[in-house]
Amino acid sequence: MATKGTVNVQTENIFPLIKKFLYSDHEIFLRELVSNAVDATSKLKVMSAAGEVKGDLGDLKVEVILDKDAGTLTVKDRGIGMTEEEIQKYINQIAFSGAEEFVNKYKGKEGAEQIIGHFGLGFYSAFMVAKQVEIKTLSHKEGAQAVKWVSDGTPEFEITEIEKTDRGTEIVLHLADDSKEFWKKTALKVF
Ligand code: ADP
Repeated sequence: MATKGTVNVQTENIFPLIKKFLYSDHEIFLRELVSNAVDATSKLKVMSAAGEVKGDLGDLKVEVILDKDAGTLTVKDRGIGMTEEEIQKYINQIAFSGAEEFVNKYKGKEGAEQIIGHFGLGFYSAFMVAKQVEIKTLSHKEGAQAVKWVSDGTPEFEITEIEKTDRGTEIVLHLADDSKEFWKKTALKVF
């Protein structure tokens, strides 16, 4: 079963704006996504120490995987994950309104990339390099259903239930063609 929706926003074409204004500092998105992955892992450790998450936490490393054939870059963590409700709240509502506020305020101004994090724009900076973004996630909560969120850079998104046995989140970026050139030159380890 799929849930379709539109992120709550007035500026319809916000993603091209993000891309254009922040293009100068291309790698910012990677810092934001890795930082989210590390945050999710730290939260899990804190909850485990407080007895709120039971059992062995397993390997907690954050991975960045560049698949040049598929044209994808994936940031993977084994942190707290998100439920569908949390995606609705943190990704569709909060993160997006942060992105919109940012663009409205800093349109065309220099140095905007330095304050990107203050607006909760972190996640959406993925659209600086991606034509489509997927979130595949399984919450740490007992009995949670794994879900996938997909958006192609318009305010429309789709959430579907998926099979995922590993707790945590994978952010899969389907790189835009102009970003592939950029990635060919990076020294990131390729598997
Ligand atoms: P910020 O990190 O500044 O809060 P983001 O746009 O980067 O803003 O992320 C919005 C929210 O989405 C985060 O606060 C968090 O609740 C959730 N989130 C993002 N990435 C992850 C992740 N890898 N694992 C779990 N939750 C995440």
